[in-house]
Amino acid sequence: DPTLAVRGLTVRYGETVALDGVDLAVGDGEFVAVVGPSGCGKSTLLRVLSGLEGRFEGDATVDGTDVREGGSDDVGMVFQEPRLLAWGDVRENVAIGLPADVDRDDPAARDRVDDLIETVGLDGFEESRPDELSGGMAQRVSLARGLAYDPAVLLLDEPFSALDRLTKHEQQDHLLDVWADRGTTVALVTHDVEEAAYLADRVVVLGGRPGTVETVVDVDADRP
Ligand code: ADP
Ligand code: ADP
Repeated sequence: DPTLAVRGLTVRYGETVALDGVDLAVGDGEFVAVVGPSGCGKSTLLRVLSGLEGRFEGDATVDGTDVREGGSDDVGMVFQEPRLLAWGDVRENVAIGLPADVDRDDPAARDRVDDLIETVGLDGFEESRPDELSGGMAQRVSLARGLAYDPAVLLLDEPFSALDRLTKHEQQDHLLDVWADRGTTVALVTHDVEEAAYLADRVVVLGGRPGTVETVVDVDADRP
């Protein structure tokens, strides 16, 4: 069974049809990038899969479980907008991503959080508040939070959009390392076709004619 699957997925917001009969399946350990023009429903697709959007027609499952029944709790989501807690520092904002049963004051948990912060290049900013960070730094806090509990499935919505080119490449390569090491199933949404082709096993295009999802690139990638 695919790890992520939608069938006949339709989402309407009033008169707007955000998704119109979309079918997509992502296998275990696969890295799929979803590209398409602004407004074609990419974010909506991830919100459905993460259980944040309950008003839809059709089927959506994660690990074979209907998302309306809670789906899988082993899903990490990184939003396009970082959505950081304004009153928490970087460390607290990353720690939110740890599993609920982990004691955040435990030394191992603190080490894990500090390692994640270092990985996204924010060592030295552990005690900074979101309003002291640039947009790109906030986005990296959000990435670290999404990776914090090592989820089996990662749903990433434009996770690199606010990063400068060098930082973007570093973080893209880090994501590939996580994916390769952990066998994570990844669905990444982006408007950047080059980014999609660089990262993913398979690139699908959403949008265009109603109900179409087409695989445009199916690479057996030779990654650096
Ligand atoms: P993308 O991520 O590809 O830019 P979205 O999934 O954000 O696309 O949006 C798809 C369509 O649905 C757009 O026309 C958008 O305006 C509309 N839409 C998305 N979310 C909402 C919402 N909560 N309320 C009303 N319209 C929405
Ligand atoms: P160009 O060399 O044509 O200016 P860039 O260096 O901006 O292109 O890279 C284009 C895209 O290719 C980037 O958005 C990125 O997704 C991908 N890419 C290229 N090289 C790397 C790399 N070493 N690490 C991560 N991504 C890369």
